[in-house]
Amino acid sequence: MTRVLLTQLPIPRQNYGRKTGNIPLGAACLKQAARDLPGAPVDILPEHLAAYLGDAALLDRLKEAKPQVFGFTVFSWNLERSLYFSEKLKNACGSRIIFGGPEITADNALARAPHVDFYVHGEGEAVFRRLLSEAGAWSAGRGAASAGELFRTAESPYLSGFLDAELENLMLLETQRGCPFRCGFCFYNKSQAGIAFADEENLLRAIAWAVEKRIDEVYLLDPSLNVRPRLKRLLVEIARLNAGQRIRLFSEIRAEAVDDELADLLAAAGFNWFEIGLQSTNPEALKLMNRPTRLKRFVAGAQRLKARGITPSIDLIIGLPGDDLRGFMRSVDFVADHGLQDDVQIFPLAILPGTDFRRRSRELGLRFENHPPYTVTASRGFSPEDFLLAYDYAETRLDAVFFPLPDLDVSWRLGAARGLAQAVDLQVRLGGAAYVAKLMVNRLRPLEEIRRLARRLTQPYQVLVGPEPGDMNYLKKILAITTAENPFTPLEIVFFEPAERPRTREILAALKLRRPHFLDGDLRFLFPKPGNRAVVFTLVSENPEIRFQGEMERQVYWWRKPELPDLEALGRFEHLDGVLIDTPASAAAIRGWQDRSAKDAAERYHLSFADAALQRRWLLLASPDEYVEKIMTWTQG
Ligand code: SF4
Repeated sequence: MTRVLLTQLPIPRQNYGRKTGNIPLGAACLKQAARDLPGAPVDILPEHLAAYLGDAALLDRLKEAKPQVFGFTVFSWNLERSLYFSEKLKNACGSRIIFGGPEITADNALARAPHVDFYVHGEGEAVFRRLLSEAGAWSAGRGAASAGELFRTAESPYLSGFLDAELENLMLLETQRGCPFRCGFCFYNKSQAGIAFADEENLLRAIAWAVEKRIDEVYLLDPSLNVRPRLKRLLVEIARLNAGQRIRLFSEIRAEAVDDELADLLAAAGFNWFEIGLQSTNPEALKLMNRPTRLKRFVAGAQRLKARGITPSIDLIIGLPGDDLRGFMRSVDFVADHGLQDDVQIFPLAILPGTDFRRRSRELGLRFENHPPYTVTASRGFSPEDFLLAYDYAETRLDAVFFPLPDLDVSWRLGAARGLAQAVDLQVRLGGAAYVAKLMVNRLRPLEEIRRLARRLTQPYQVLVGPEPGDMNYLKKILAITTAENPFTPLEIVFFEPAERPRTREILAALKLRRPHFLDGDLRFLFPKPGNRAVVFTLVSENPEIRFQGEMERQVYWWRKPELPDLEALGRFEHLDGVLIDTPASAAAIRGWQDRSAKDAAERYHLSFADAALQRRWLLLASPDEYVEKIMTWTQG
């Protein structure tokens, strides 16, 4: 018997409960491909555990499973964490380790490690079957094979029961593998030789399943939906199944291909949003990235979608070879001038392993970070400062924020207040066990107790520090313990009415976080200088004078008055980063206030509520599509 456990680690988030989109579709395809193999049961680590457990807690769950094989789906955001986990698991359980996923390319030296037994390049199904059925297949150490018919004829793993859409009410549906285009920054076009289209009948059965199960959103995974043969016929069938538009559909498309007929069919089928790569309007940049674009047709196609209520979400890239700051600004203007600024995503160029840009980086004059997410830091046309200027310009011109700070959640109690000095840890239940999401440091707690709790932290977690104890050395010891056990887990440290300004540099030096952390690169342009991005510091005080507003620092007013604030009162704290509403008003009164004020207040202010249950309610009201309610049921520890 060869038991396999497949794991996909999420993009790190800075708010507990925020959706991660970490749906293990690749693992489900492997499980489905191996379903008929005798003696090789395949399990997938449940999404809620993979997404919301801190490093130590997740490692303990994986160790308990003790399979003969651990498989990891590796992306740039989880490469280093997957290496860390797999090494610990190899040492603890002696299991074999398989790495697959987009990050596993022949030229990616960062992924190489002696404890990894096998690397799968490209599609995994056929190689996975071979590894589970031929003992000799492991000796090669790496392999690639087209999934071919296995993919084309496979039904969606949701229908086979290998995936459920429960956590985020979102279904991922693979319609195509491979891409006919050859964009220089992209690896996807190289991950397999040809293009394979999923059978239409299977796709329609999956859509019918989603409609029947009342799934909110279905994302068609397809680099360019318009490439599909007989697309219009497929759309007519989807529209028939989705009559009444019970599900919302999302995908990616080349805007130039959208004529009036296609736009009508997409709208009738229930499409709501398309990601559309423009990347740049600079002819030299478009040429160097091998992405010819007819700009007039692009605009016409995107506007046709918009006219039918479908949001065209336009992607732009900063730092492309052949482009410069002025060229980038012209691309932003182009989007705004044509009324396409409703939803714009702007990425710094990433020099991904396996891509043409990686191979030609010297020739193209690209300087980039050599660790994920491989962000370009300078090029012939962009100085390091130009990236910040580019984001500043885009934020002003498009009236958008591209690097928001995490949502404000400084809730610290459950139910009526007994005072911060009596407050205890706040926990959530995941997979039948309790885990600590808010660790309370409001008294001297034995370090042994902290060591035990450090193995039961969520991802991310908060350390809530009361006015007592004010001993900085004690706090540093606590944080050294929690971060040593959880070196990849982001955290927030919240100080309630501290006697002095928290010495954040000293605290950062005491942390045992793995550096550079993925968020250090991913959120590099949040502040002018690169640096710590995985730790947020928040100060909560009744004193409204500004005294804590540096990098990754925010200051929140502690509203402890008996009455609830009106919008005018909230306006008095606009110079701060938010308000914690902590009144003795009844829960019913606060719920009523939230219902009345949600829209206006959430648009204008960052608000938090002291009671964690009311905080959860607020997050779900203010950001209805962003949080997973079922993993946010709080208990006291
Ligand atoms: S960026 Fe999109 S269109 Fe270009 S090669 Fe990659 S998947 Fe294809």
